[in-house]
Amino acid sequence: MEMTCGGCGTVVDGIGAYPFRCPNFALGDVDHVLVAPPPCPTGSEWPAWPADRSHDDNPFVRFRELLDCYRRSSAIGMTEARYVDIVNDLAGRIEAIDGNKLGATPLTRSGYISDFYDFAAGGGVWVKDETSNVAGSHKVRHLVGIMVHLLVSEDAGITDRRSRPDLAIASCGNAALAAGVVAAAARWRLKVYVPTHADPEVMARLAALDAVVIPCERRAGEAGDPTYRRLLEGLGDGDIAFTCQGDLNALCLDGGRTIGYEAISDAVAAGAVPDHVVIQVGGGALATSCIKAFAYAAQAGVIAGMPRIHTLQPLGAHPLARAFTQLKDRAGPSPSAEEVAGLLGEAARHRSLYMWPWNEPRSVASGIIDDETYDWLAVVRGMLETGGSALVAGEQELVDAHTLAAKAGFAASATGAAGLAGLAQLVGSGEVATSDKVLVLATGLR
Ligand SMILES: [Zn+2]
Repeated sequence: MEMTCGGCGTVVDGIGAYPFRCPNFALGDVDHVLVAPPPCPTGSEWPAWPADRSHDDNPFVRFRELLDCYRRSSAIGMTEARYVDIVNDLAGRIEAIDGNKLGATPLTRSGYISDFYDFAAGGGVWVKDETSNVAGSHKVRHLVGIMVHLLVSEDAGITDRRSRPDLAIASCGNAALAAGVVAAAARWRLKVYVPTHADPEVMARLAALDAVVIPCERRAGEAGDPTYRRLLEGLGDGDIAFTCQGDLNALCLDGGRTIGYEAISDAVAAGAVPDHVVIQVGGGALATSCIKAFAYAAQAGVIAGMPRIHTLQPLGAHPLARAFTQLKDRAGPSPSAEEVAGLLGEAARHRSLYMWPWNEPRSVASGIIDDETYDWLAVVRGMLETGGSALVAGEQELVDAHTLAAKAGFAASATGAAGLAGLAQLVGSGEVATSDKVLVLATGLR
């Protein structure tokens, strides 16, 4: 199983201990992200798409044949039963620590939101609700994918439990909490780089999980996010990126795809395959993962074609929308598929023409104000190829979306409800018709 860097083309052995990031990561103005081959080797059938939720609730068991971490375990000779044992053992420990189960999250048609926008009976708004997930958000899926890889490596003797490198993440929100729970479940030491103004409640929870919290001050003359700078220094010293950023650890995108797989399976079973998907974007890993899940489902014939992919960012931090606009301007009014592919290839080799840090990001949706969209290129590609849009919402629109989510009975934060601000714009502009089916993700607990 080989992984290929989408930026520089370097091939990495996916069987090895840490096939996380491109060895040329720091070189050039290149978008280095490792990509695994699809779970369907040339000439072979796609694995069956599990439709029946009851047979196994744990997404890392249910969708294992679509996951890189399982395919690698098979490639190194591990039995299916052993893989399932490792996953279930980790899931049991996670539930014991967090209280929430590492299980399926619900997908339901929201009658309240559908009626609010006058959707017809056949159309409507389906919400995938991640607020009941472990640590209150979708982030746990990204991190469990990495952890399963690490535990499989130890079990197979590829790495030694007695000489574990530290795990490390730069975050002061949901991603840090999810990382804390998963690391504690595996009894693995975790460093969390946080800003000096981090929320004391989150810090207390991290301390209770035995994470090593490291506050980061901005050094004189330093540009960008200081927590991210310290994280990179730690990775240089051998720490493992336990993050939701695909450029630092591509395996986070593998586990993240379980959210898409699950939404697609449930939508197919309910006769509610979406025409549009609206995803709020901070670092871009969730959108990247969901787009890939839909692409695989379309290639496997599980759905007839791709839905239109739309993203939503706050006005106070929208580096992805900025990059998308730049690319569309360069592409001109009606580019051919070849021209789009050429442009995206060029963008991968000239990253800073499109993506650079946002100056003083701020929004009520504080979970999606990453100063860069780290996983941006696959999202831009997904929007371009499906005729989607990069939406930007002002603060009042985000507040209204949050209020609507609460009235509809979702316990989402302003970040978690932000996709609804995109829905409002798409309905308002007529891009979404009232007969359409729309998927929105409620990503995090308030
Ligand atoms: Zn590379």
